[in-house]
Amino acid sequence: MACVLKRLKLLQTDVVIIGAGPVGLFTAFQAGMLGFSSAVTDVLGFIGGQCSALYPQKPIYDIPGFPKINGLELIDNLAAQASPFKPEYILGHQVQKIERQDDFWLVQTAEPRTIKAKAVVIAAGVGAFVHNTPPLEGIKAFEETSVLYSITDIEKFRNKRVLIAGGGDSALDWAVALADVASMIYVVHRRDKFRAAPETTRQMEDLVQRGKIKLLVPYQLYGLQGKGAHLSKVQVQHMDGNIEDVAVDFMLPFFGMAMKLGPIAEWGLQLDRDRIVVDPATMQTNLPGVFAIGDIATYPGKLKLILTGFAEAALACHSAYDVINPGKPLHFEYSTTKGISASENDAGKNN
Ligand code: FAD
Repeated sequence: MACVLKRLKLLQTDVVIIGAGPVGLFTAFQAGMLGFSSAVTDVLGFIGGQCSALYPQKPIYDIPGFPKINGLELIDNLAAQASPFKPEYILGHQVQKIERQDDFWLVQTAEPRTIKAKAVVIAAGVGAFVHNTPPLEGIKAFEETSVLYSITDIEKFRNKRVLIAGGGDSALDWAVALADVASMIYVVHRRDKFRAAPETTRQMEDLVQRGKIKLLVPYQLYGLQGKGAHLSKVQVQHMDGNIEDVAVDFMLPFFGMAMKLGPIAEWGLQLDRDRIVVDPATMQTNLPGVFAIGDIATYPGKLKLILTGFAEAALACHSAYDVINPGKPLHFEYSTTKGISASENDAGKNN
């Protein structure tokens, strides 16, 4: 009950940042430097946007000051940089709606949870990440109970039969990670070649030899059976057409992710081909107190790079100052002059 109340509680903050990609994370830092409290939301259950979801291990060469840094390292650094200011992360919830009420914006997530803020910064990339779902009849009924697209608690699978579908990094990473916890892992893939890192493929093959993982290749998903939200069988079809039943407790399909603009299209923002039009001097949209930055923002000469998004984050926060502190003059200060207070620094160390 306490948990339900906490979830329904209205959160109040100076600025809501929609999108926990690199640009959203740097906005949390910039907001903190200007004394704003912030909440960072993302539909994904983890931070990092495209860097974490699409290229975690790929080296990036054009982040100023880092000759080479991979996607996950950059995200870890950005989170550490923002942590002294304790942004509130609300992950795994898509923002559905923003609505003006008096001097505030009410930002509502799908759960639903409402955040009241003086300013909104949309750093939503090319839209919300959504998992590609297999086209199986009745799958919706099992989703979130027996059919899961992301994993937050490994213990859920202890001594359970788990069927993992897919042949990429996520499918094989989880097959290997869950092999010691689950009573049996099935990996269903249409080909006998996998697209995962060679080391992960080798580890999986080793677990197959030890009987911890059973490979079903070349097979594809065919149907689901179960009672209520609880799955009991997955039907798989061999490429020769033969159908077999596999008794399972969970199915984890890993068929990649797509990005969709989603509800943002309905917020009354001026759009240009799925991008939000902003004034490049302030990063403000056509809605007062609503700013857009990073990949989602467009203006003449826009360069879709992480470094551009960082500069836009600084601009948006400085522009939002007057919205958050009306009538109070902003005295511009370098970070070297302003510094981060000892208490803020301690908070950062504890995060
Ligand atoms: P994103 O990283 O896309 O994050 C946006 C976040 O917003 C997502 O997590 C999404 O789930 C969330 N979101 C969207 N809508 C909602 C909603 N309604 N509610 C809640 N959450 C929502 N750039 C470079 O500068 N250098 C490079 O070398 C480079 N290499 C790249 C390599 C690859 C393979 C790819 C795909 C991109 C590369 N990029 C590179 C581009 C770079 O990743 C993007 O410019 C950057 O991620 C944009 O950051 P962002 O924070 O604006 O958006």
